[in-house]
Amino acid sequence: MQPVTPSTLETTFQKMTLNNSAITCDQDLTENRTFKKLRVSITPECNLKCLYCDSGNTLARTEAANAFHLIPIIANLHQSLGFSSVRITGGEPALQKRLPEFVGRLQELEIPEINLTTNAIFLEPMLDELKLAGLKNINISLDSLDEKVYRKITGKSGAVEVVSCIQMAIEKGFGVKINSIIMKGINENQIMPLLDFALTNNIIIRFLELMRMGVETDFHKKHFLSETEILGIIFQKYNFEEMPRKYASTSKYYKIFQQQVFGVIANHSDPFCRDCDRLRLDHLGNIYGCLSNVESINLCGKDASRYPDILAQAMSLKQKNTFTGSSLSMRQIGG
Ligand code: SAM
Repeated sequence: MQPVTPSTLETTFQKMTLNNSAITCDQDLTENRTFKKLRVSITPECNLKCLYCDSGNTLARTEAANAFHLIPIIANLHQSLGFSSVRITGGEPALQKRLPEFVGRLQELEIPEINLTTNAIFLEPMLDELKLAGLKNINISLDSLDEKVYRKITGKSGAVEVVSCIQMAIEKGFGVKINSIIMKGINENQIMPLLDFALTNNIIIRFLELMRMGVETDFHKKHFLSETEILGIIFQKYNFEEMPRKYASTSKYYKIFQQQVFGVIANHSDPFCRDCDRLRLDHLGNIYGCLSNVESINLCGKDASRYPDILAQAMSLKQKNTFTGSSLSMRQIGG
């Protein structure tokens, strides 16, 4: 592993290899891509109005309870594809009061890992039930520890509650990761407090580059902060080494101390489409083969015998190398 310094950052990224140097960026991995992970957006509704997600798109209002109509679809998909994991997301999935029951229904399908992505505002009272239902890992979105900045990004206060929920979830034995989108001029001053909080509490944090999603505005152009810039800020305090990237991982990890790492999800600077194995399902039963492609196929009422053809069509929508942006916001398609 190479020590990373600001002067070597650019070249480090250009030469970056995947998976213990067995796979390089030049190799075409797209031929062998299969869907192995499913992300299910059980509702597009959210209690927060994050700057990057609430794009102004008008979303049809739904009852969160409608998510249960997705179970037979997920069962058929799992039968066809043999998922390694299913991640429940949204919108805000914890708006669905029957979320533990939903997890339990997925558990009955013998899906090896059931995970959740949430803003954690409503999560704490559900933690015990979720654990019993079989939930393994929780990714918690937290873009700031500073309540003022948190409110500026999400439209509401809640950073203190989210921190408390993170600690509670760890105590209860969940695998917890923090996801933080970093935006120029908005929260780059939160990188170090968030990283130090994660290191102190032994949690993995991943810093996300802002993705160009939602209704076209100049928001992305104005606030995009690259992986190089994020690493440059961290380097002012810590030396770190890049770790080998795992196959199909969205995140690259950097090691600071013996056991302590942080990640960067660099959708724009270093896209990971070439070995992407994710399929998305929204609350209406539409599948999306690629985050860059708004095209979807509705599976409601479709016979399972048609799934192989439909899935091949969904796979053909995947980008080869580069995330090209989307007019859908993440809460529609499921982050
Ligand atoms: N409400 C839940 C939450 O906040 O975690 C789940 C849904 S949210 C859409 C899932 C993830 O997508 C969050 O970590 C959020 O930060 C990320 N996300 C949303 N819009 C994004 C964008 N434009 N660029 C990068 N990440 C984005």
